[in-house]
Amino acid sequence: MRLRVAGLTDVGRCRERNQDQLFIASDAGVFAVADGMGGHAAGEVASRLAVEALEATTKSRQLGVETADAAGAELGLRAAVDEGNRRILESVLQNAEWRGMGTTIVVLKVVGEHAVIGHVGDSRAYRLQGNEMQRLTNDHSWVSEQVRHGLISDEQAHRHPMRNIVTRALGNVARVDLEVTRHSIRPGDVLLLCSDGLNSMLVDDEIAQILRGHSGDPESACQALVTAANARGGEDNITVVVIMISPPTS
Ligand code: CA
Repeated sequence: MRLRVAGLTDVGRCRERNQDQLFIASDAGVFAVADGMGGHAAGEVASRLAVEALEATTKSRQLGVETADAAGAELGLRAAVDEGNRRILESVLQNAEWRGMGTTIVVLKVVGEHAVIGHVGDSRAYRLQGNEMQRLTNDHSWVSEQVRHGLISDEQAHRHPMRNIVTRALGNVARVDLEVTRHSIRPGDVLLLCSDGLNSMLVDDEIAQILRGHSGDPESACQALVTAANARGGEDNITVVVIMISPPTS
């Protein structure tokens, strides 16, 4: 599969610091967004450590261009996220003021005709296939659990005062509970990774409409998504990675 990829991260209009990180390794087909949490700059540290561990794993056989299939990709994703968690725990031992820091991560590897996605926390992956926009990740968040139990609606969750509470993250845990899923992809598909600063400002239909309006141009799609989230208030850091699957002949 030929991929056209772009990413963009923005501090938004309310926060002083950007604690998000993005990662793009097109050759290996590995892409990620991480959203750090914690005071005293610890949020930036946690998301950076997670992405550095992913980068190191992507350069190794575990998750590099050699990865043969979806099963191999899953093992590689787990190794990368475990290593990120280990690095965060180690840093906290050395710097007491970073105690409590953590990060979400959503990481995607394209292998053959599959996208293998691993995620922890509330950073998301979407796929636009034809006209159908599908969320490929379930948020590991308090409001998302309430929606699954039928206690509140998706719409209520979107504006809920407790929507920022994440129930799974890297850091603070000995073993990360990475959720891994596999999805088929085909030419024409658009994959999106984002931090919650995007999807807390825009509903899924709005995100889909922006992706459709910028088909074939991932850079302008990223810019339009960030601009739209900021126009809606930009209450949080906004990070997007857009992956367009091109037909082999184009
Ligand atoms: Ca966030």
